[in-house]
Amino acid sequence: MAPDEDASDPQSLIPVSMRSASADRCWWCGGFADSREHRHKRSDVVGTFGGGRWTDGGVVRVVSGRNRPDYIQGPNSGKLKFPKVLCTSCNNSSSQAFDLAYEAFSQYLRENARVVDDGFRFKFSDVYGSDWRIHREELVRYFVKHVGCRLAEVGIAVPDALIDFMNGKGRRAPHLNMQMSANLSKLEMGRHMSRVHGSNEGSLWLGDHELLLGRDGSPGGTQSFFGFDWFTLSWGFSFTWRRGQSNFYHSDKVEIPQFWPGGMAAGDVERVCVDCNSIEKKA
Ligand SMILES: [Zn+2]
Ligand SMILES: [Zn+2]
Repeated sequence: MAPDEDASDPQSLIPVSMRSASADRCWWCGGFADSREHRHKRSDVVGTFGGGRWTDGGVVRVVSGRNRPDYIQGPNSGKLKFPKVLCTSCNNSSSQAFDLAYEAFSQYLRENARVVDDGFRFKFSDVYGSDWRIHREELVRYFVKHVGCRLAEVGIAVPDALIDFMNGKGRRAPHLNMQMSANLSKLEMGRHMSRVHGSNEGSLWLGDHELLLGRDGSPGGTQSFFGFDWFTLSWGFSFTWRRGQSNFYHSDKVEIPQFWPGGMAAGDVERVCVDCNSIEKKA
């Protein structure tokens, strides 16, 4: 368990059959786990917060879960990485194409305001060109790599079907329901920070890892999300249900649904902005 993981993590409720046998094994290949994957792609951290010189004081803000701020130090911070749940070869060479596909994707969304202006629509072919089907598969495997690391860090054994998927077999990421969405309050926050505070740092998000309970109260899976700026990738992992689901796997064109998180509405960011409401406002 990562030292920065929520102590109330309901690990003890994970069914015994879903628990990983040993803590020091790579969840993908079973080799010795000696490598730490970044929770956020390094390029996202650099792209979002600027490379080279880190922000003044060396602190950037990552919010985990619901408005619980967490502070991390620079792009190599331990808090930006998973514990050792992969081997070096899986984390690097085996998944290099997946990492690159995600980098291209996140860069495209961050740099193309048109996506937002067009109502949160994009085409994979605009991101990747004519080989978009291949690169979409790689992108989804980056998502699964991220999810696999989150499962492994809380002691959940990644199912064989997901490992087969990582190895290029099958399609549509079994066991997972993955949804792309646009968090409008985060979009508004980014625009406010830029317009009012002159900060274009952007933001990175990592949700709490929650246990999903079935109707009878027994654990059925887990869920969380990650993202940057307004982009959110929510995922639900089912212990038993193998069919994969998503809202971005059916065609070249993707329409990203938008939402205001719990109780937030347009204009709220100005009212709750810490910097605007700070007593010790910077001159
Ligand atoms: Zn491995
Ligand atoms: Zn403000």
